[in-house]
Amino acid sequence: MQWENLTATAFAEAVRETGVCVIAMGVLEKHSEHLPLGTDFLNAHKIACLAAEKEPAVVFPPFYFGQIYEARCFPGAVTLRPTLLLDVIQGVFDEIGRNGFEKIIVFNGHGGNIHLLQFLNQCALWEEKPYQVYLPLGLTPERQAQWRAIVETDYHGHACECETSISLANHPELVHMECVPAEPALPLNRLAHLPATHTGIWWYANHPDHYAGDARVATREKGLALRQLQIDNLAEYIAAVKTDQVVPALSREFFARSRQL
Ligand SMILES: [Zn+2]
Repeated sequence: MQWENLTATAFAEAVRETGVCVIAMGVLEKHSEHLPLGTDFLNAHKIACLAAEKEPAVVFPPFYFGQIYEARCFPGAVTLRPTLLLDVIQGVFDEIGRNGFEKIIVFNGHGGNIHLLQFLNQCALWEEKPYQVYLPLGLTPERQAQWRAIVETDYHGHACECETSISLANHPELVHMECVPAEPALPLNRLAHLPATHTGIWWYANHPDHYAGDARVATREKGLALRQLQIDNLAEYIAAVKTDQVVPALSREFFARSRQL
């Protein structure tokens, strides 16, 4: 069920029936020369909607604010000041909670959001909330093996064989296969002179054209198979979150103890 498509009365019923809201998170950023700026949130939202058809949940409207400062040198990126970004995402979670959902699943469609979302999840221990946030961390090992059996290329990451194939499955009219670069994009390793290091410029150092992988072999058929793995994985995850009583109980215990200090 898509939040924006429900009437207020049907929405209230869906909150009672499911108790779970899925928010698919992506960003607006360049995706090489052949995919649209909204690729991450378009794909994540589509997959969330299809998963919620298998295992009922309410899917939040497409959300496209996230960590994507590394795309600010390309046209079309939309970024928010870091503290504002944290406030916006936290405020959206609070509104989902205020509407009665006790469980929020964050289905992340953008690799650059991982650290941000894990940090926000740790922030849940700062202040007690009437809801819990769950962040799925990828496919089961079995589905990862199935994924590897479908794809032909070894290096992936951005506008690659996988992402392009899934885009062909979800919204083929937005994919421009004729614009796929003639050469694959492998990491340039421009920080190789340093010991193992993280700096903000690490992604740009490897991928100055905002492309990582080889989209030339992408097909809609592969995309439908890859997408199905994600849909099945997320549907299973929604079911597991619905029945989970441990995270809410431990959270209540944690805050009760912190009040007794
Ligand atoms: Zn992407």
